[in-house]
Amino acid sequence: MELAYFNGWVGSLEEARVSVNDRGYNFGDGVYEVVRAYNGVMFALEEHLARLALSAAAVEIDLPWAPARLKNIIVETLGESGIKDALIYIQVTRGTAPRGHVPEEEMRPNLLVTVRNMPDIPPSLYSEGVKAITMPEFRWQMCSVKSISLQASVLAKRRAERAGAAEAFFVLPDGTVTEGASSNIFIVGDGALITHPADNRVLAGVIRHFVLKVAGTLGVKAMEEPFNISDLMKAEEVFITGTVAEIVPVVNVDGKIIGGGRPGPLTARIHKGFASLHK
Ligand code: PLP
Repeated sequence: MELAYFNGWVGSLEEARVSVNDRGYNFGDGVYEVVRAYNGVMFALEEHLARLALSAAAVEIDLPWAPARLKNIIVETLGESGIKDALIYIQVTRGTAPRGHVPEEEMRPNLLVTVRNMPDIPPSLYSEGVKAITMPEFRWQMCSVKSISLQASVLAKRRAERAGAAEAFFVLPDGTVTEGASSNIFIVGDGALITHPADNRVLAGVIRHFVLKVAGTLGVKAMEEPFNISDLMKAEEVFITGTVAEIVPVVNVDGKIIGGGRPGPLTARIHKGFASLHK
């Protein structure tokens, strides 16, 4: 059964309640993680929790739970749900207090964990690939923080959807392509993978990390370097990475066909290598 944990309370998602004074609700003042469980086992939970700690530290939220305690809460909530193929959402907000920009000292953060059934992913996503659009970067300068303040991403996704695309790629004023609204981007040039460095312009994606590892194992050259719109447009292959859909080929950007308009062989090889990590 789909379950919510909130500050020690456990019950259905419909019954879970937060205060209207929660700073996440009022200010988007919090951080989060999304973890996928395969056959009852969470993939890369340690990496996700390490990133949660980095995000919290970057926005000056002191996590009051010892790492082992936090891990236990998540593992127990997943176990209690009985769901084997699950999406686990972990959200920490700064806490609950009457609305005011400056947070009170010594606030107690609120912890929400939800466990849901993994949504069905149509196989055509991988066999056909998806379209993307590009748009000017209009988010903030701390994209390495997995913040729940996602208004810009919501608008970007909506713009993509209206254009019949699955993802929006952000482009800096100098033409550098950074990441998608909810994914990291890899391009293939001369048989090598290129992805934007893990700096303040992108989220250091967990799947991105494992893709770089898999590339190393397969003997595929992989570079963490900035690339621009023209590199993207003439790439042999393009794919995006993220926890939910793992590795998804991109075959069209702004209406222009990428790599012949079909998912490429290196994308498939990397995905196969990645899938073997959680099988
Ligand atoms: N970049 C952004 C902006 C994201 O929101 C996400 C995931 O939601 C990613 C990249 C991919 O991160 P991960 O591979 O850890 O899911």
